[in-house]
Amino acid sequence: MGVLRVALDVPLPTLFDYLPGPGIEAAVGDRVVVPFGTGRRIGVVVEQAAESTLPRERLKPIEAVRDDAPRLDAQWLALMRFLAGYYQRPLGETVVAALPPRLRALRPLPSTADLVLRLSANAPSDLPRAPRQRALLDTLRAGPLAENALLTGEPQDRPKVRAALRRLIAAGWVEVTPEPPAANRVAGGTRFVAEHALNPDQSAACTDVRDTLGRYDAFLLHGITGSGKTEIYLNLIAELIRHGDQALVLVPEISLTPQLEARFRLAFPETTLAVMHSGLEQGARTAAWLAAARGEAAIVLGTRLAVLAPMPRLGLIVVDEEHDSSFKQQEGLRYSGRDAAVYRARLAGCPVVLGTATPALETWFNSEKGRYRRISLPARAAPGAVLPRVHTLDLAAEPLAHGIAERMLEAIDARLARGEQSLVFINRRGYAPVLACPACGWAAGCTRCTAHLVLHAADRSLRCHHCGAQEAIPRNCAVCGNVDLRALGRGTQRVEETLAARFPGARIARIDRDTARRREMLARTLDDIRRGGADILVGTQLLAKGHDFPGLTLVGVLNADAALLSTDYRAAERLFATLAQVAGRAGRRERPGEVMVQTRYPRHALFAALARHDYAGFAAAQLDERRQAGFPPYVSEAMLRAEAKRLEHAIAFLRYALEQAEAPDAVTIYDPVPQLITRRAGLERAKLLVQSDSRARLQAFLTTWTARLVAAPAALARRVRWHLDVDPIETD
Ligand code: ADP
Ligand code: ZN
Ligand code: ZN
Repeated sequence: MGVLRVALDVPLPTLFDYLPGPGIEAAVGDRVVVPFGTGRRIGVVVEQAAESTLPRERLKPIEAVRDDAPRLDAQWLALMRFLAGYYQRPLGETVVAALPPRLRALRPLPSTADLVLRLSANAPSDLPRAPRQRALLDTLRAGPLAENALLTGEPQDRPKVRAALRRLIAAGWVEVTPEPPAANRVAGGTRFVAEHALNPDQSAACTDVRDTLGRYDAFLLHGITGSGKTEIYLNLIAELIRHGDQALVLVPEISLTPQLEARFRLAFPETTLAVMHSGLEQGARTAAWLAAARGEAAIVLGTRLAVLAPMPRLGLIVVDEEHDSSFKQQEGLRYSGRDAAVYRARLAGCPVVLGTATPALETWFNSEKGRYRRISLPARAAPGAVLPRVHTLDLAAEPLAHGIAERMLEAIDARLARGEQSLVFINRRGYAPVLACPACGWAAGCTRCTAHLVLHAADRSLRCHHCGAQEAIPRNCAVCGNVDLRALGRGTQRVEETLAARFPGARIARIDRDTARRREMLARTLDDIRRGGADILVGTQLLAKGHDFPGLTLVGVLNADAALLSTDYRAAERLFATLAQVAGRAGRRERPGEVMVQTRYPRHALFAALARHDYAGFAAAQLDERRQAGFPPYVSEAMLRAEAKRLEHAIAFLRYALEQAEAPDAVTIYDPVPQLITRRAGLERAKLLVQSDSRARLQAFLTTWTARLVAAPAALARRVRWHLDVDPIETD
């Protein structure tokens, strides 16, 4: 009888050996309950071995095998092994954290999760009037669902939804089957409703990718904003699911998914679509995961975590807006959802399509090297839609009103007169970023962070955007007592105020994280804007991505310069991407758009490239700088960060790490330094950078190094929290 090696969520880089236990048959991929220490834990069997290194009598038996979810397949386990290895985390932690929380719990799923509801043959074709019954039938029309997946509303509404469901079952319109549908077939239909006939560029792109279905290949779909990339994804997926395969579509932000999700549902009215993001209620999240793992969901649409869902017949992966930084997880397993997707495509033997108007420089570099095949869509797809005209306004030469160029205000006025929409983009929320004393130079700062407090006008508070601390606005200067404190700089609230004073009759909508705290609220506001419910939009990058506002013809950009002066070498890349994205919101229909960027550096090469819509030129110049300076993608990096109550403790740990490093020739380790924002939420932070021009050698080095760090003396380790960030996208 063999030994089962189980991955457990404990911070030890090892597997744990167990025996099968009487009457228990467990195999690789099973979720199992095992005794551990004085308690019990859930884990996943990842290996089977003939013998253990421990004597047999010390091995304990497995207590139970969970059969409430499908066995995890070999491809999924291989992905987990890759992620754990590449990002230097224990396999157990990686495997268990990749499961939805309910499948990590010791308690098995309630059996209702296994009850699958489906529309019966005698369901009426015209829907009943009762709104809840109507909504339920409408949802089930898309395909069978677990009960939990139907109970997604507010908790207090659930009894009523259950009652409505019972009435539908009693009427014989909905059937309950205890067994999940056979896992080898997609639930629902595969009917595809195309929005448009593809244009020649789109058709060519589709053909290129379609030819690779069934084997690994990686594509960069470089298409300008509005070039019809989404339409290409939909066409490819239509082809794929006709063969019974599954498609995985990753998107950056939760706020983006409602509109995209609606588009997918319209295109595939009968297909089971699983939506996955961290904002979902637990029941719905589990149901979506199960639908993917059982192969019922033909399409899985989600944020980066969806790349971790098992999909037995995965045939295509799309990463939309692949350049977006939200694909990188910033805690725990610090993985890149995009890079994981490419690796996963290799494992699955299927194509992966990375789509964007402004590729990450790493991705562009890979396409230049031929590792990714590049497909270009240089024109907008909608008839008559052209790219907006982009120009700069020289802050040194333009008359300003409250920090906004007069010419920009006049341009907004002209849009108001024509009944068109304007968007004023400023990447900073709140009223003003600094409250300062002009007499002595004091500025309100956060006591727990190395940061200024941001003035918020709505509730007259000072808030820290790093730790969330909040306090009342002081009456006078904390140092000299001066009562004449000044708000310096501007954020969205102040811009809104300025615009409201200047255009009293205009309807102004402000969109930032303060006004869009809840996902549904944001979705509703965006919908309202799309239907013309606002004349002027003021917003942060929440407004930059993916939205389609038909009436928008002017975009004004306010504080672009901060990024040009940044010490972060990625700042220019991000600014270009953000500006190209916001610019892409303008003139998406017949009426041409215009973009005005006010700046002190009107002749900066970045703006010139933006005005030419020349991503390739911009990327070439950036890559040249990166190559000369020895930055990624020409080198691979890892960042070791440590935080402690006292800075010297964080530094001491990093010094120890430096001493422990026996770096091979190809690996460079820099000295520990304090982070730029040294204190955050009361902790002092430091970092240490590791670079190499060989990814493989860096990996080998990190593996031995991490093992030593894990074993650091308790006296050092106790005082700090540390993590290793492989391929960091934050330079701090
Ligand atoms: P992207 O994803 O590249 O931003 P979309 O797929 O959203 O582009 O398309 C942009 C706009 O162009 C949408 O309104 C879409 O309906 C329209 N569109 C896409 N393909 C075509 C086409 N072949 N003919 C006409 N309009 C199209
Ligand atoms: Zn003062
Ligand atoms: Zn703070």
